Amino acid sequence: MPWKSIKPRTRISGHPLSQKGIRWVKSRLDHCFKHHACSNGLNKLLPARILSFKRSHEGEISIKLVEKPNESGRYAVLSHCWGSQLSFTTMTNNLSDMMQGIPWTELPRTFQDAIRYCLELGIFYLWIDALCILQDDKNDWQIESAKMADIYQNSYISLAATSSDSTTTGCFPKHAPPTNLSIRNNPLLSRGWVFQERVLAPRILHFCNQELVWECGEQTCFECGTLTKDGDRLPALSGLAERMAPFLGKYLTGLWDKSLLRDLTW
Ligand SMILES: [Zn+2]
Repeated sequence: MPWKSIKPRTRISGHPLSQKGIRWVKSRLDHCFKHHACSNGLNKLLPARILSFKRSHEGEISIKLVEKPNESGRYAVLSHCWGSQLSFTTMTNNLSDMMQGIPWTELPRTFQDAIRYCLELGIFYLWIDALCILQDDKNDWQIESAKMADIYQNSYISLAATSSDSTTTGCFPKHAPPTNLSIRNNPLLSRGWVFQERVLAPRILHFCNQELVWECGEQTCFECGTLTKDGDRLPALSGLAERMAPFLGKYLTGLWDKSLLRDLTW
């Protein structure tokens, strides 16, 4: 079903980090926990490698990569487009440095924005593929990538930098004057996210160009107030689909060729 344009209303917060924006997200979370059967993402075993961060009383954010935390808790995942150049990744030769601490200024803007958003939601762990998988270690990449479905499924929330085409542009939208809102042309989205979105993240918060969009197992909700029916759910996170292709086969507009029969009958 094609996406309809949505007329903007004054209910839009203007910025995801505004008090109004945060309140809206918290109200969606609250509603999801109280009224939906969506997985709660609480007390899940943390992924084997994950970013851990905290903010001091002075407002300074300290970040480090932790391995095998072997503890349960809640964590977010980041869905993002890598862009043509992603120079800031975890490799075998910088892993120990990343575990000592990651200087805030070295992080690409999209990662900084995602961490700031987590802190606003009281989340202190974030999984980002570029940092939590050793990008130059084929063995590590195969082991960790194969866990991606579980990692997404067990997450508390997935933050989707839906309107960003690279890690340097940040999660949050450019503030173009709202005229006629549409989410069709966002870089991270592609058509046909039918099966995977229900298998993976229980809740997705999309940072779109002019508003936030909430998507969970039972509801898709626009910050402007529009609630869509189940059949109108957001389409695919194509970057994730591409990265899972080695394990699940070619991505066929919402289905994987290796499980095509099962997906069609789901
Ligand atoms: Zn829900």
